[in-house]
Amino acid sequence: MTKVIEHTSRGKWSRSGVPHKGWTCVGVDDLEEPSQECEMCESVDIRYVHYMEHPDHSDILAVGCVCAENMEKDYVRPREREMGMRRIARRRKSWAERDWRVSQLGNPFLNSEGFNLIVFERGDGFSITVSRRGADRRQVGKKCYPSQDQAKAAALGALMWAKSHL
Ligand SMILES: [Zn+2]
Repeated sequence: MTKVIEHTSRGKWSRSGVPHKGWTCVGVDDLEEPSQECEMCESVDIRYVHYMEHPDHSDILAVGCVCAENMEKDYVRPREREMGMRRIARRRKSWAERDWRVSQLGNPFLNSEGFNLIVFERGDGFSITVSRRGADRRQVGKKCYPSQDQAKAAALGALMWAKSHL
């Protein structure tokens, strides 16, 4: 864990033509495990990716939090993005551990945060219905998932959507 020392002299940090500041984050991603080398310092494997863009650099670089901080010269926002990704990852993990019940029609369902989520078979796959409990508002998902488990995992997204739309 001494990697942070002289972090900004490694990889592209010491390559000419690569700007050291003025980068903007244009997106983030969670690779679910450290599986890709930071494209800036080229010395750490990263799980949470910050995609960085610069007007004087043709490529978008996929970098880790420490490099993102230095590239943006901002030591607050990259950390917040990182924490947001960690929060979502934790949420996804605990969501995957939840027990679904089976409705009278034989469909798996889950009640969470005042909403009712149902996974049902449609065509060759599975779709999701979400409704606010005790209300008429309901949304049937347009997406079809190849397996029931994939639909259950995607139901978290449906719940998030429902919380702001239903
Ligand atoms: Zn780095």
